[in-house]
Amino acid sequence: MSKTLDNQMQQEIDKRRTFAIISHPDAGKTTLTEKLLLFGGAIREAGTVKARKASKHATSDWMEIEKQRGISVTSSVMQFDYNGHRINILDTPGHQDFSEDTYRTLTAADSAVMLIDVAKGVEAQTIKLFQVCAKRGIPIFTFINKLDREGRNPFDLMEELEQVLGIRSVPMNWPIGTGRDLCGVYDRMQSQVELFQGDDHSTIQVQKVEDYNDPVIREMAGEFLHDQLCQDLELLDVAGDPFDMEKVQRGELTPVFFGSAINNFGVQTFLENFLKLAPKPEPRKSTAGLIEPTNEKFSGYIFKIQANMNPAHRDRIAFLRIVSGKFQRGMSVKHVRAGKEIKLSQPQQFLAQDRDIVQEAFPGDIIGLFDPGIFRIGDSLSQGSEVVFDELPTFSPEIFAKVTVKNALKHKQYQKGIDQLTEEGTIQVFQTVSFDDTLLGVVGQLQFEVFEYRMKGEYGVDVQLQRMSYQFARWIIDENIDPSKFRINSTLVKDKKGNYVVLFENEYAMRTAMEKNPTAKFLETAP
Ligand code: GDP
Repeated sequence: MSKTLDNQMQQEIDKRRTFAIISHPDAGKTTLTEKLLLFGGAIREAGTVKARKASKHATSDWMEIEKQRGISVTSSVMQFDYNGHRINILDTPGHQDFSEDTYRTLTAADSAVMLIDVAKGVEAQTIKLFQVCAKRGIPIFTFINKLDREGRNPFDLMEELEQVLGIRSVPMNWPIGTGRDLCGVYDRMQSQVELFQGDDHSTIQVQKVEDYNDPVIREMAGEFLHDQLCQDLELLDVAGDPFDMEKVQRGELTPVFFGSAINNFGVQTFLENFLKLAPKPEPRKSTAGLIEPTNEKFSGYIFKIQANMNPAHRDRIAFLRIVSGKFQRGMSVKHVRAGKEIKLSQPQQFLAQDRDIVQEAFPGDIIGLFDPGIFRIGDSLSQGSEVVFDELPTFSPEIFAKVTVKNALKHKQYQKGIDQLTEEGTIQVFQTVSFDDTLLGVVGQLQFEVFEYRMKGEYGVDVQLQRMSYQFARWIIDENIDPSKFRINSTLVKDKKGNYVVLFENEYAMRTAMEKNPTAKFLETAP
């Protein structure tokens, strides 16, 4: 590669930040995303993202099921520029009915923003998404939202992060007052106060100060709130964790920001600090060792396939995360699994669902590839080599159903549908050892609905799903496996590859089985 191209690559990589926002529904993810897009000039009016969320009917290329339910089944990608950075936000469905896609999308992110409602603290979906990020060891930044409302004590919330998620935290700013009394935040890193002004909290005044004892704050916030602030910050200085960049990078310490997305309060400083601290695209593990983003050969992997974005054409979009090299429209790459050269001619990049054709893209970017059915989740594409990325773990299903075909004559189509949808990662399939029943396993109820919908729409098969009471799946490695041991509150099944898996109805049954089979290994995901 020539020197100038080298420099261009480096600059493009340095300015990129690719992250996901993880939160529980209603914490304010749509609102925050919208404010971030406004800063980047990617949208002109507040309400754009919201409107899309509310009126799915207007957008023709959403899956029917999305329209019916008014939710986002699949994660989209939004790209915008801010202060010389190129930002890619990977959106994860905010509805309770999230799916394995949500988890897989997180593997394409280099860091995560964890959004928490100040009144509600750490909620169920946040925990699940956090755990996936924590397993990968990516940096996690916390934004505590809705500070304009009465909420929980910030120290309580920090303790909850540690107790529930096992992560220590370092507040980057601290609220001055709370709820109705909130008048601003003190920025610990830059020694400045940001004040709300006016009843609607809309105007923000930023004032540099000596430190938190500065009498200027007393004048602005009043004696009572200033005393409280000094007390809190002294305690943090003495007993809190100091900011430690290495711990942040390893995902052991989360920088915490307080703000209010709807009032746009604390959002811009959050964004600016985040851009400074968040990692640029990093090397990724592969069969050929670590692949540096600066590697001149283009490479990437597919983390998601979205079917039927346009029901009229039944096309599919495969989402590819670029790991190394420069992508150019029309380039030829090796589809490693298929062992074929393919031409990437209709790539798309995403801004809040508007599809544009991309000409070039760099590591950290996500491109959407037109997929005539040649891609699978986890496929690697690379220029002139056999690099395979090892990025996509399978996830332990938590919801199970027995599936049967309503019309026995359609059995062949039914089998084809199950095979293809399993390959695409829509569902996981298991066969019971005792009766040869077919069970489906998912992490979100929505996956069942997508499965039913696609079986009917694409394969012409009506299926019947009967919910089972299992809640946990563990792949078992045991020399002398004995199905009769797994009859009470559990059952033995095989996955698609023939590995043995035990499904348990509850944690107690699982623990008991583990105790009774000390020589067996129980794994959360396929070996
Ligand atoms: P999502 O489900 O996480 O995408 O949440 P939304 O962005 O749709 O927000 C859920 C609700 O919380 C909406 O009614 C928002 O207007 C409201 N909301 C979001 N941010 C704030 C905030 O900072 N303060 C207050 N009071 N409400 C907020």
